[in-house]
This record gives sequence, C-alpha cells and structure tokens, in this order.
Amino acid sequence: MGTATIETDIKPKENNWSGIKKTSSKLYHDDGNVIIIAENTAFKVHRSVLSSHSYIFKDMISQHSQSHECYDGCHVINIAHTSEELRSFLEVMYSYSNLSLASSLGAINAIFKLSNEYSVATLQTQALDIISNLLPTTLCDFDSLAKNIEQWELGIHFIQSVNDCNALWLLPAGLYLLNYFSSEEIAGLKLSSDLLLKFYRGLASMTTEVPQFVDSTLIQNKKTKECCPRIWKQILAKARSNLTNQNIVKAHVPLDYIADLTKRGPAVNLCQACSSSFKEAAHDYREDLWSRLPSIFGIGDSWDDLGEP
Ligand SMILES: [Zn+2]
Repeated sequence: MGTATIETDIKPKENNWSGIKKTSSKLYHDDGNVIIIAENTAFKVHRSVLSSHSYIFKDMISQHSQSHECYDGCHVINIAHTSEELRSFLEVMYSYSNLSLASSLGAINAIFKLSNEYSVATLQTQALDIISNLLPTTLCDFDSLAKNIEQWELGIHFIQSVNDCNALWLLPAGLYLLNYFSSEEIAGLKLSSDLLLKFYRGLASMTTEVPQFVDSTLIQNKKTKECCPRIWKQILAKARSNLTNQNIVKAHVPLDYIADLTKRGPAVNLCQACSSSFKEAAHDYREDLWSRLPSIFGIGDSWDDLGEP
C-alpha cells in the first residue's frame, strides 16, 4: 500500500503486471482514471463514480494517488475479492445491470458483501431488501414463504454473508431453513465452522420440540376436552408412534410437523370446536418456538437482541 513518504510529484511507475488482464466486460472505460485489481483482472473506472458512492473508496483513492503503483497510466487499488464479485458490484454501481431476485445468487451475495464493506448505502439497501424477503423474521412471513416453492430454498445461500455483514436478525430463519437440507448440501455451502456449530447445536436442541408439544399440549387437550375422547386418544397414539419413526420425524422439521398434526391423520375427524382449539394450541406452540429461535441457535437471547429490522 502507498506510504506517506513518497513525494506526490514522483512519476508513477508501471510495475511488472504480467499475468494481469483487462476485464472483458464494459468495466474497462477508455476515459477511466483509476484501476481496481481483483485477483488477476483489472477494471478501469472513474474516481468520481467511486467517490460519490462511497466515502471509503474516496479515502482509498486519495491515499492511492500518493502510491506509485500504476497500471495503464492510472493508480491502482487492489482489493481482496474475486474478479467476478467485483464485476457484479461495479455493474450495478454503474447501472449496467439491475439488482433483483432474478440476479444470480453469487451476484446478490457479492453486492451485499461489497456494499457493506465499502459502505455503499443504496446498494446495501437493495441487497438487504432481496435477502430479507428470503429470510423472514416473523413466523407469518415464514409460513407465506414456505408456500413459494421457487423461493423458499434460496435463503440458505445468504447465511454466511448475513453473518459476515452482521445482519444477525436474518440468521435464525437461515439456520432453521438448513434443517430441510442434507448434510452434503449443507457442506456444499462452505459455512464457517462457527456457523455450522450454531446450526448443529440448534438442531440437537430442537429434537425435543415435537415430543414436548405432544406431551404438554396434546395430553392437555386430551384431558380437558370432554368431547371427541376417542379421536384425541388416536391423535396422541399416532403422534407418539411417529416419534419413534425417524423417517417421519426427520422429514418434518418441528414447525411443519406441529402444523401438520392438526391437519392430517386422526385430527381431521375432530369436531369443529376441538379442531379449532387444537389449531390454536399448535399456533401458540409454533409462535413460542419461533420466538426462541435466536436462543436455540445461540445467536442472542431474543429477536430484539439481534438489531434491525
Ligand atoms: Zn370435540
């Protein structure tokens, strides 16, 4: 990096840049006046554009104008991101492309990370809006997302970046969604060991949720409801036998499983009054479980502890 001892009137020196290639994208502007290099790719952009979007870039540019590292006649900023990430970020900054859910997951992640690192507020907000829709903070939004088959499984691809960018309020839904994936799929996400530990601890702790629901709520209903005694007995027996069937329990994560118990199997034969009281109990239990997700995954004591939104 540039050192303060270098005189500003020293002519910039062209270093040995063998192995560095110019980006083949639109982001090598003839009239650009600063070079950013990521990996082995150079992007020629404008100081005014970078500075107007980010005070961090503005500071870097003023520091680097004292450095004598130079490429194609311009001062160089090296950044530690992949060239693909930098390209996605600059393309949206220059409005050559728009950021939307239709953008690739890699592009959304890159823009989220870089806009946080370089404090580009407009892009930060855009990326956060997209990711927030995929990682809800309320059970109601989570249930609506679950109905949207094209979208519900996208959220897990942002777990690492929301953690790295400290958007902790988006983590509980992300870690919960991981429940639906195989260990191979989870390994493919290359999450940090810290996050994996949080997930597997949470997973272990959640194995008691369904038995707890069965033992408390269900038994309570069976005892207190005077009508439908035979059906309550069947529901409880079925739920208990399910608990011993790994395939059934594993295929349903607790929030789904508890909702399903009220809609399928013997429960469909309950009278109107019993059915609504069962659904209400399941609703309350699910809300309670949702409120405990931050502590289940060891992210914070409550949702309020996680900062925004
Ligand atoms: Zn009844």
